[in-house]
Amino acid sequence: MTLTPLGLDPTLCFIGGAWVRSSASTCLALINPSDGSALCEIACGSENDVDRAVQAATSALQGEWGKATAAERGRVLAKIGQGVLANVEELTQLEAMDVGKPLKQARADVIALARYMEFYAGACDKVHGETIPYLEGYTVYTLREPHGVTGHIIPWNYPMQIIGRSVGAALAMGNATVLKPAEEACLTALAFAEIARRAGLPDGALNVVPGLGAEAGAALTRHPGVHHVSFTGSVGVGKLIQETTARNVVPVTLELGGKSPQLVFDDADIDAALPFLVNAGIQNAGQTCSAASRILVQRGVYARVVAQMGKRYDGFRVGPALEDLDLGPLISARQKSIVEGYLAQADGLEVVGKGRIVADAPTNGAYVAPTLFAGVRADHVLAQEEIFGPVQVIIPFDTEEEAVQIANGTDFGLVAAVWSQNGARQMRLAKQLRAGQVFLNNYGAGGGVELPFGGTGLSGHGREKGFEALYGFSTLKTVAAFHG
Ligand code: NAP
Ligand code: MG
Repeated sequence: MTLTPLGLDPTLCFIGGAWVRSSASTCLALINPSDGSALCEIACGSENDVDRAVQAATSALQGEWGKATAAERGRVLAKIGQGVLANVEELTQLEAMDVGKPLKQARADVIALARYMEFYAGACDKVHGETIPYLEGYTVYTLREPHGVTGHIIPWNYPMQIIGRSVGAALAMGNATVLKPAEEACLTALAFAEIARRAGLPDGALNVVPGLGAEAGAALTRHPGVHHVSFTGSVGVGKLIQETTARNVVPVTLELGGKSPQLVFDDADIDAALPFLVNAGIQNAGQTCSAASRILVQRGVYARVVAQMGKRYDGFRVGPALEDLDLGPLISARQKSIVEGYLAQADGLEVVGKGRIVADAPTNGAYVAPTLFAGVRADHVLAQEEIFGPVQVIIPFDTEEEAVQIANGTDFGLVAAVWSQNGARQMRLAKQLRAGQVFLNNYGAGGGVELPFGGTGLSGHGREKGFEALYGFSTLKTVAAFHG
């Protein structure tokens, strides 16, 4: 299949600024989750391909890319951003077909990718070192330098946003990158490489090797020529990658899962909260690391919140991505069966809202009707484990202290929100909640390229997005000069 209008052959890898054939003899089938049909074939990148990509990145650091000034890096990132915007509709269609995102959600991801490029284009030449007062006769200063070759392993749920935040920030700091997209969704990663090539990104600064995690991904994480690994994905694979990179003593950023809570107090503006409460659960069919899968509600407003959230759920419609409804399919039949496995454990829980799959939705699509449960105990499996599907649980609470205890009562710590008009409570809880981001009277699942993002506990460590990512994608050198 030819991907028009970018004219890509998706069975190729992008290495050293050129489209090249993988050394592996087989390809992988890419499935359209809206109907289960085969979309196209993609390369099944091998250890050898990864090695070629790392070598190309190493050469880039010694060549034009390594010599580029911060301002020059910024200029090319800005051009990539413009290239993304010039192809909004093409990228939107690709992502909708590949991931199953309704068009409006896919389009929002394209715009976010462009925003990351704009943000990091502007940030390139604004990362400064410090001068440090020291002993008499010395001048001491710090330099921020790239790690070198950075490896980027990303999942299928937000390919473009995650490319933007990790590859974008790494390039801004002058690293040369090797990207291994998810086997289930890699078309926009390939399109991004072509856009970057056309924008004039020097050869080897970005390399893309699609393939299997256990092969291409594992080869990238253990490669001795890789100096930093950015991983977004599951807890299990994150642990594996931390172990592997430890053998080369290489720093790693882990953006893993979550079980993020939104806390709704009796004094909250419920009407303002409602769209955030439900959207943060059903956005991308719940396949969002920062999905607000737990809604904690104080007793005084509990009945009202349950009824109004339930009403919204009842109105949600699920169908093919190109029909652009509220929800599309899940990424795969496999993901659907994982979510159904959780729903099978909901025995005895009260369903207070449920969306519907449209009648003409193809039977082979990976559709799951969004389901809202209320009256759920905080220790129930549906309130503890990441489901990664359109399922939210509502948990009642009485006191602020109890709410914090429930909110902090999982192994994760990614995002949290507080809905309350009480300013003192907002400040208290912002400190007490165990999360990498706390939203007060709003919620930003996936949003905000400017906002540092990342987790604690099983949600991972390290920060991406915003300016903070630029520190993560660079290393600090202290220069101490004695001049007498
Ligand atoms: P996953 O299975 O961990 O896969 C993520 C990436 O890692 C894919 O590219 C995968 O390749 C690759 N991979 C798999 N095994 C590997 C190995 N042994 N060595 C190196 N790479 C390997 O996760 P997923 O199922 O795609 O995504 C869902 C999970 O990601 C959820 O838990 C979610 O919370 C998390 N997530 C977190 C964030 C965040 O920012 N915190 C964002 C999005 C998703 P394959 O495609 O071949 O499997
Ligand atoms: Mg797919």
